[in-house]
Amino acid sequence: MTNIGGKNIQAKLVLLGDVGTGKTSLVLRFVKGQFYDCQESTIGAAFFTEVVSLKEATVKFDIWDTAGQERYQSLAPMYYRGAASAVVVYDISNAKSFQKAKKWVEELHRQGSPHMFKVLVGNKADLDHNREVETEVGEQYAQENGLQFFETSAKTAHNVNDLFFEIAKALARTWKSRGPTGMTLQNRQQGGPRLFCCSS
Ligand code: GDP
Repeated sequence: MTNIGGKNIQAKLVLLGDVGTGKTSLVLRFVKGQFYDCQESTIGAAFFTEVVSLKEATVKFDIWDTAGQERYQSLAPMYYRGAASAVVVYDISNAKSFQKAKKWVEELHRQGSPHMFKVLVGNKADLDHNREVETEVGEQYAQENGLQFFETSAKTAHNVNDLFFEIAKALARTWKSRGPTGMTLQNRQQGGPRLFCCSS
């Protein structure tokens, strides 16, 4: 991981949201450029890494893709604790998944670090004909609750890279402006510094 004259950042990112909203599909689209129509459900959580190279920084994401089922919900704090960014995903064609996303946002506000960069994602934007959550509704909720907002499609790849690049850019900015007071840089035995929120 090299960035000449820039910063090397290692950031934990967690995906939260109801089962079936496309969390795994978003990660696989981003990391592998692939999409599966019959994506198998995640059990517990899955781990991926991906590097985003920006002019100002190289950001290595440690991505935790959590399972959305109720029975795994109590494990979620393990994954969002210490995360630099949380991505809360709902399915635009499923109003219930939007309600569930709101619950995750409330939990993050209650229990997560205030420095965590939070993003609300309405996935499956290709299913516009079956839309149950209007773009403006998601956008407004995100704005009122201090989250960035994206509509994506893991199927068509719409906005998927933009989502992760925007997060990388925001983390690079935060690192610069806030530095070690808001984020803790932990030295590892190998590799560069890791960027985690200070509540961890
Ligand atoms: P997760 O449980 O949140 O990880 O969701 P998955 O990634 O397992 O996806 C659940 C189902 O939705 C799978 O059948 C995917 O193929 C499908 N899916 C995921 N993303 C999209 C999308 O953007 N558009 C459409 N049409 N289907 C999607």
